[in-house]
Formats: sequence, C-alpha cells, structure tokens
Amino acid sequence: MTYVITELCTRAGDCVEVCPVDCIVPGPKGDAQWPYFYIDPDTCIDCGACVSVCPPEAIFPDDELPAEYEKDLEINARFFTEGPGYWDFDLEAEREPQS
Ligand code: SF4
Ligand code: SF4
Repeated sequence: MTYVITELCTRAGDCVEVCPVDCIVPGPKGDAQWPYFYIDPDTCIDCGACVSVCPPEAIFPDDELPAEYEKDLEINARFFTEGPGYWDFDLEAEREPQS
C-alpha cells in the first residue's frame, strides 16, 4: 500500500513538513512534466499524516483512490523511477503560497 498525491495538488508543501520518512518530493517548480509533489511508494509507511494537512485534500490511500485519479498511482511511482526522483530541494522555494 502507499499514499498517492493526485492532480489536485497545489504545491502547498505542508505534506513535506509532516512526513516522518521524508518520502514526499516536489517536481522542480515550473517543470511542465512534473508539476506536483509526489510520494515515493517504496518508502511511504502508510501513516496517513500527510492527508489531513493538505489544503486541497489531494492525497489518498491507494485503496481509496477515486477512479478519476487512478492514473496518479503510477505517476507518483514513475517520478522516482523515471523522473527527477529525490533531489536536494528548498521547500520554501518550491511551495506555492496558498490563498
Ligand atoms: S500538502 Fe497537498 S497541495 Fe500541498 S504539496 Fe502536499 S499534496 Fe500538494
Ligand atoms: S502516508 Fe505518511 S509516510 Fe506516506 S507520504 Fe504520507 S506522511 Fe509520508
């Protein structure tokens, strides 16, 4: 099991601050292919801490993922296998202010 960030993500970045295993990583700001934050499914310990802090409620456990966001399960995984993956990002520089 893992938790999944969907296309509802607005780059608030709050999830990164609460994840106990640091497995949430942003796509580089302005990167059209990787516009959201992503969860590494191999490292996520399914604690659920990220869910309640996400302003747009963009995060779901994979077994409760609405059908319209099913594709995001694979996209999160691919971010770490084919995309940028882990990198030394500055959270304050990567997050978007929320209105
Ligand atoms: S808290 Fe929600 S909106 Fe903010 S980066 Fe994480 S998933 Fe995206
Ligand atoms: S469920 Fe827990 S371990 Fe997984 S991404 Fe969210 S905060 Fe991190």
